[in-house]
Amino acid sequence: PTLPETLSRTTRKYPDREAISYPRKDVRLTYAELDERVDRFANAHRDRGVETGDRVSLLLHNSAEFAVALFGLLRAGAVFNPINYRLAPSEVGYILEDSESTVLIFEAATQETVENGRGEFSTVEEYVYIDDDVEETPAYAVGFHDLLEKSDTTAPSVSIDSTDQYAIMYTSGTTGRPKGVVHSHRDATYHNTLYAGQMGLHFADVGISAMPLYHNAELNCGLLARINLGAKTVILHDFDARRALEVVDEERATHLFVASRIWRQLLETSRELDSFDGSSLSLGVYGAAPMPPSLLEECIETFTEDYATAYGMTEMGPCATFILPFEVREHLESVGRAAPNHEVRIVEPTEDEDPNDPVGPDDTVETGETGEIILRGPPMMKEYWNEPEKTADAIRDGWFFTGDAGYLNEDGYLFLVDRIDDMIISGGENIYPTEIENVLYQYDGVAEAAVIGEADDDWGERVVAYVVPDGELTANELERFCRESDDLAEFKRPRHYEFHEELPRNPSGKIQKYKLRNEN
Ligand code: ATP
Ligand code: MG
Repeated sequence: PTLPETLSRTTRKYPDREAISYPRKDVRLTYAELDERVDRFANAHRDRGVETGDRVSLLLHNSAEFAVALFGLLRAGAVFNPINYRLAPSEVGYILEDSESTVLIFEAATQETVENGRGEFSTVEEYVYIDDDVEETPAYAVGFHDLLEKSDTTAPSVSIDSTDQYAIMYTSGTTGRPKGVVHSHRDATYHNTLYAGQMGLHFADVGISAMPLYHNAELNCGLLARINLGAKTVILHDFDARRALEVVDEERATHLFVASRIWRQLLETSRELDSFDGSSLSLGVYGAAPMPPSLLEECIETFTEDYATAYGMTEMGPCATFILPFEVREHLESVGRAAPNHEVRIVEPTEDEDPNDPVGPDDTVETGETGEIILRGPPMMKEYWNEPEKTADAIRDGWFFTGDAGYLNEDGYLFLVDRIDDMIISGGENIYPTEIENVLYQYDGVAEAAVIGEADDDWGERVVAYVVPDGELTANELERFCRESDDLAEFKRPRHYEFHEELPRNPSGKIQKYKLRNEN
């Protein structure tokens, strides 16, 4: 089915079950109510000239309106383009222009970005503002709820197929400018059913969308999975650890997915609360980084027995590999084994290969050896929007070349090491910067470290370390520390140190090394 059909089917099964709870505005929607709003929003779009295949962009924090807008624009036949609300106006402008989006839906919390960028948003013909009683709708926008009220409740007749494109989702922009990833309705259905199946979710689950819905992880594993099942989603507009815990308690949430570092925040906050009852939780999911063993144990004690994680990306979907609850303790350092119907291989990192070259066993490195992670599985993206060369580079012989460096152990568990783009080739050796950064982090005066390769006439590249010092720190000290370290081979030692006050990061906090490389 298409995603709007999924919502219709769930609605027919469970019209009176609660689909959405949005505590910030005290909104609760049953499936029947959600479905009706979605019809209204779809009609509003059609009435205002949106046609099948047109792109509609959302610059929104999580909200009930986000869910209505998403399904409404899809039911109108449009293509969904969620934009990270933490991007700068010019970055938002790039995405709007690249996707040739004609409608932008925004809210008070993102209004400043829109106002600063609007002069450059040349493709946008209509602005839709999440109107409420508190803030006034800007003159250049139409009100979201106003549109809903005025629109018809009969589903528009629009012909879309499950193989049609449903979204262009932009990558996080860690290794360069964000790339538009094209997925079909069927891909999204695959992602969310895969996750639900592996995690054992069902209609009686209550999940909290605490992570941003513009990102493929929360979207597929959270909202879309639960709508498919007939489960309930509690939506948080902004993440706040205390509020998240209160909501777990109030709504008797069973399922919570947040980044590993946020589990730590939740843990600390739970200790400050007078009474916190997390006994409803049956599954905690972490992601984006490994969970330290001590943190896992504390979370088990405080929240629930079972934890799981996954590894994925916008292009393949959020779960190409899984660590399931029963194995998590033994495999905390790993991101798991390939998901059902998926395969993982590690190959020698190479560039600009012919996309038609078969990927054979010969290309695979030895077990335990680090190389580029490549993945194969049904819900792979169709292409990068407007980027045929990048597509040809990323999809070769049916495999997706992730750009991530990692290794597999004998049992098929995958371990992430680094990004391939960040790999340094010096004197013919492949050097993974994380290894060097981990050594630098052992030194007390190092607050942050990022290691990159710099062109060098003799060695091809030389290792350079960018360091944010914590207090007084000299290159000599670090040089001595690295020389004395047992964890660092001579050829991996930084040849040069640069001290900075901060490192460039994308909005989700990942260090953008390509920006450091461009400085030189
Ligand atoms: P860009 O492709 O624009 O450089 P990005 O790769 O960071 O940005 P996303 O698709 O949001 O954009 O993120 C996917 C990446 O996140 C993966 O390729 C991997 O490097 C990292 N990642 C995914 N899952 C995990 C995990 N469980 N632990 C650590 N890192 C992860
Ligand atoms: Mg990527």
